[in-house]
Amino acid sequence: MIDKVNQVISLLEEEFPNLKPKPGKKDPLDVLIATMLSQNTTDKTSYRAFQNLKKDFKNWDDVMNSPISKIRDAIRVCGLTNQKSKSIKNLLKQMKRKYGRLNLDFIKKMEDDKIYNELLQYDGIGLKTISCVLAFGLGRDVFPVDTHVHRVANRLGLADSKTPDKTFQQLKDEIPKGRKFLFHTLLIKFGRKICRAKNPLCGKCRLYDLCEFERKEFFANSSNGIPKENNFIILEHV
Ligand code: SF4
Repeated sequence: MIDKVNQVISLLEEEFPNLKPKPGKKDPLDVLIATMLSQNTTDKTSYRAFQNLKKDFKNWDDVMNSPISKIRDAIRVCGLTNQKSKSIKNLLKQMKRKYGRLNLDFIKKMEDDKIYNELLQYDGIGLKTISCVLAFGLGRDVFPVDTHVHRVANRLGLADSKTPDKTFQQLKDEIPKGRKFLFHTLLIKFGRKICRAKNPLCGKCRLYDLCEFERKEFFANSSNGIPKENNFIILEHV
């Protein structure tokens, strides 16, 4: 498996020669909330919602103490606003109760596994969200699995799972150390540009020979154009 992962990384580095991803160092609670906002929407709209929260409220305490309707109005651009506003307020209340303040800086000193255990106890916080906090907030070399990464990894035969969480569990220890975040970023970019959910560009894919997707021949023979690239990633901007 590690050989195939390395092969995929090499080929994708050829596909995206200018990609030099570095895990970020940002406020972990900001990253957590931004990741919650980004569920089921584009990074551009969730970033606007995140900016609105920062502009309309003094701090996360202010968000926690405000009526749901005010939070909902601030994040209206990003969809699922009822659910997201309730989840954010609820999360902030739970954290305030447990830690006495809304600040996650204490996790900076914790090991990855301990952080997963700590944050998994909160409603609505899953493995992908925590992996994003680790990667984009704390600069850790981890492998967040979203729908793009899940789809591409399964088509390639690197994982055999029905959910992003199971794909994460199957792959997280199969990626060479120091290359997990790079692999995540390459798969996201590749999933957006070539291995799209609908109409993947199999005829233009440099991973074609490695791929185990049973419909690759069909898509290789269909004529799809390369779409305009969407390179915006919200968590690089919070
Ligand atoms: S051959 Fe098609 S399905 Fe397979 S990785 Fe390439 S684009 Fe995706």
